Amino acid sequence: APVVPTHDDLRLLSEANDEKLTSRRRANAVFVVLARNSDLFQWLESMRQMEDRFNHWARYDYVFLNDEEFTDEFKRRTQSLTKGKCQYGLIEHDHWNQPDWIDEEKATTARVKMVEAGIIYAGSVPYRNMCRFNSGFFFKHPLLAQYDYYWRIEPDVRFFCDLSYDPFLLMQDTGKVYGFTISLYEFIETIPTLWDETMKFIKEHPEYVAPDNAMEFVSDNGGESYNLCHFWSNFEIADLRFWRSQAYTDYFNHLESTGGFYYERWGDAPVHSLAATLFANKSQLHFFDDIGYRHSPFQHCPQGPSHEKNRCICNPSDNFDFEGYSCTRRYVNMPPPKEL
Ligand code: GDP
Ligand code: MN
Repeated sequence: APVVPTHDDLRLLSEANDEKLTSRRRANAVFVVLARNSDLFQWLESMRQMEDRFNHWARYDYVFLNDEEFTDEFKRRTQSLTKGKCQYGLIEHDHWNQPDWIDEEKATTARVKMVEAGIIYAGSVPYRNMCRFNSGFFFKHPLLAQYDYYWRIEPDVRFFCDLSYDPFLLMQDTGKVYGFTISLYEFIETIPTLWDETMKFIKEHPEYVAPDNAMEFVSDNGGESYNLCHFWSNFEIADLRFWRSQAYTDYFNHLESTGGFYYERWGDAPVHSLAATLFANKSQLHFFDDIGYRHSPFQHCPQGPSHEKNRCICNPSDNFDFEGYSCTRRYVNMPPPKEL
């Protein structure tokens, strides 16, 4: 007669499997989620997919950050979805709020002008706080101090495919500092002086510019002007130590001193992208081509055999990569990294 496993047999099997998963080689990495309490259910959609597609075997922890205290419900419902440890942090006042030295009249006038120009989030101060926080402060949060790599995830995004490998280990083992899936053009109205400030900064600090940087991705004329290309930072797998470096610290402080996060509406996406393309070598950037991902209204759907192999569920013909508004064509067409 066939041997029917008992409940105890199955429990032991499952525990043995669990032990294998937790003792797997892992990077010193964590998921980072900035969210409001009101984002809870949109967030659970993202988190459930991340668990199903990757983290049920990868077992990384989560750090949640908020400018207000997370509710008990937020904490319970998130922790219940994962075997990873969830930690919840409050953002300190000065890391989130508009600094006192910002000329409020000037900032208000700029916002009004931008609203008239029809730019998204033009009138929002909280949005500007969020962009500045993601540009200059998230990696300073004490809950992240122990980690080297992070994966930023937002509420209401989609992951279309299984992860058949650990992207954090890929970053670590190949010395990458910044990974993305989607790139596109920025609205110039939100960053009219960002490029000039960036060029001013690198003229003062040529020592920070990487020898084999990806300037071609962000400028079509050797640095004279910005082509507005940037990596979409709602998805980021990156090295926290890059943001903590002296180069990035000095760069952020320079940008901060101009007030551009409030007098304009600088996004963390172009700020991170300019730093990654100028202060890192090309070989340290990575296009996660096999991670199917959507943040409305754009999606990256893997092409070719990896689509079926990783059980992707997106329509391969619904893929932003080579559409007119995407910058990914420029990225993949860059000359390959030099041997340094
Ligand atoms: P978009 O992707 O540029 O449209 O901006 P989102 O509204 O998605 O915001 C980006 C991220 O910041 C998301 O993870 C949001 O949950 C988070 N976020 C935006 N504004 C706030 C805020 O005022 N407080 C907190 N705690 N999180 C915010
Ligand atoms: Mn978003």
